[in-house]
Amino acid sequence: MIDSYKHKGMRKALVNEVQQKGIKDAAVLEAIGKLPRHLFLDSSFDRFAYQDVAFPIGSGQTISQPYTVAFQSELLEIKKGEKILEVGTGSGYQACVLVELGAKVFSIERQRNLYEKTKKFVQKLGYRMNLFYGDGYKGLPTYGPFDKIIVTAGAPEIPKELLIQLKVGGWMVIPIGNQEKGQIMTKITRVSEKEFAQKTYGNFAFVPMLKNRAAD
Ligand code: SAH
Repeated sequence: MIDSYKHKGMRKALVNEVQQKGIKDAAVLEAIGKLPRHLFLDSSFDRFAYQDVAFPIGSGQTISQPYTVAFQSELLEIKKGEKILEVGTGSGYQACVLVELGAKVFSIERQRNLYEKTKKFVQKLGYRMNLFYGDGYKGLPTYGPFDKIIVTAGAPEIPKELLIQLKVGGWMVIPIGNQEKGQIMTKITRVSEKEFAQKTYGNFAFVPMLKNRAAD
């Protein structure tokens, strides 16, 4: 697991690119600048790691585009020590960004092989987080409520069971929509026990959030 000067140089350029596209949060930019994204991809794809694009990571899944990771992270406005639920662990890159931002991370993945691979990998990288194999539509009721929730797969509808795992005053950042038209980034705030407020932030393209765990 080598992080060379060349990688560091490319990473700096990526941070500039993401900043130029509109990301302002210094802590988020710092996290992108620190994380060796090339290690989250197969080594033969080294040269793509610091381009601002999504990339396949196996099992038909992708590591999100760095700008998208930064955008969702910025919307979360994480304060140190906050308990965050992520749906769609994937490569673990977004989860590591959240750890860098000081969050206590709980992340669920429905593909068992990805879950296992990523669990080993983030441990090796030295990141502490709580990873689960399961269905993100159900969330983690026994570990909630959460300060914030981030969904990193395109949800055809708002997962109701996740809403009730939010603390009052907390919010969920989730791309809502289908595969044909893409998704609209949405922030849903739990204003009170029974009241939720919604705000939208433009179009994105994610792999779909699927029901149930994949078969073992
Ligand atoms: N956050 C990831 C992005 C992964 S892509 C990263 O930084 O790399 C989205 C992931 O969501 C995929 O790995 C997919 O398997 C997973 N996913 C889709 N539906 C899910 C569900 N219902 N529960 C948990 N994970 C789900």
